[in-house]
Amino acid sequence: MSKKFLLEHVNVPRIETINVYREKGGYAAVEKALKTMTPDQIIDEVKFSDLRGRGGAGFPTGLKWSFMDRKSDKPRYLVCNADESEPGTFKDRYLMEKLPHLLIEGMIVSSYTLGAKAAYIYIRGEYMYIVRILEKAIEEAYAAGYLGKNILGTDYSLDLYVHPGAGAYICGEETALLESLEGKRGNPRLKPPFPAIAGLYACPTVVNNVESIASVPTIINITADKYNDVGIGKSAGTKLISASGHINKPGVYEIELGLPVEDFIYSDEYCGGIWKGRKLKAVVAGGSSVPILPANLIITTAKGEKRLMTYESMADGGFVSGTMLGSGGFIVMDETTCIVRNLWTFARFYHHESCGQCSPCREGTGWMEKVLHRIEHGHGHMNDIDLLVDVAKKIEGNTICPLGDAAAWPVASAIRHFREEFEYHVKYPEKVKDPKHFEKEPFEREALMVNG
Ligand code: SF4
Repeated sequence: MSKKFLLEHVNVPRIETINVYREKGGYAAVEKALKTMTPDQIIDEVKFSDLRGRGGAGFPTGLKWSFMDRKSDKPRYLVCNADESEPGTFKDRYLMEKLPHLLIEGMIVSSYTLGAKAAYIYIRGEYMYIVRILEKAIEEAYAAGYLGKNILGTDYSLDLYVHPGAGAYICGEETALLESLEGKRGNPRLKPPFPAIAGLYACPTVVNNVESIASVPTIINITADKYNDVGIGKSAGTKLISASGHINKPGVYEIELGLPVEDFIYSDEYCGGIWKGRKLKAVVAGGSSVPILPANLIITTAKGEKRLMTYESMADGGFVSGTMLGSGGFIVMDETTCIVRNLWTFARFYHHESCGQCSPCREGTGWMEKVLHRIEHGHGHMNDIDLLVDVAKKIEGNTICPLGDAAAWPVASAIRHFREEFEYHVKYPEKVKDPKHFEKEPFEREALMVNG
């Protein structure tokens, strides 16, 4: 059984209440941090732990904290990014729903470290039932003296607020989130300045993901050394993975970083193998934004090494034969999945969610959706495939925020790894008009070579 730092007590009855949470050792990190540690000591501890942002980018959390302008005489803020909207990703939802006090405890320790007197949990509007869970838990924390004035008799005070968004994926981008929190339309800002210098209300602000913040109490309790004993190299600790798609046991799993991907997919402790005894076709390993990989490359890297669930191993091969650990939204596709249809679904999503500020993203996502629609529905031309690659290239790196890249990468990688399938759609329009075409007759490269 692998180590559990976050979900150790997830199945304890009523763990969402403060009494049960405290019986299991909850809020010990607040006691320790506020009474025995300075903010600098905590930043060092988090740096040494090698905790990396769990929202997708994987940036070192301690380093991000150290960028905060703590000498500024302006107010400082901590904002928790709970706007989890990436298709295939639902691990923060699980964490907040089951363990609201773990997030609150992490918010208190992190806010103390950064010198924030007010902190916000910005949560996606669709998670309204979790807003109520969090608000109830915050009320309990105030009553127990963990929030409000002079926490636990120290001179540190903190107010914590939950702020629901209105349901826009782009508000998961940290500067769009801050705009939305200020009551404006959620448009990403041009950077620099970065939020650590000019964030919420132009004041120094740190924005961290739910899972990153919820990992802080463990680091304080067990120390950085013990935290980064788990994992491999710069991929330390554990990570929540939300597994979905054609597997026997979809769900949220806490894994030790370094677990082989093959074990994650096939072992009974995790996904339990591909459903209905079918073959694995492809995996989108880190939420819909990351490059898709075919079965052989997700199990083994191009160098022939076992692919591991780490930031480095996932990226091995760059975007030619690798991908990203991303948000941990692990979408598994069996042999009957139509890659073109899947990609068209993603493209529709990004087109719909583009905020429209920059032309390559606003226009390009629309073009990609249209072209994919016609290929998938049997009206495509052979040159549409290169047109898609061209549009994706023109978007990548040419936009204000990463949504443009997020829309472009899946297109480029799907065509790189599954080009024959796109060509099949153009060559056999009658066959692909049925939306379940590959369910009836799984696509096989050999078949195309014989027939085509
Ligand atoms: Fe908006 Fe897309 Fe530009 Fe991001 S990349 S700022 S979502 S138009």
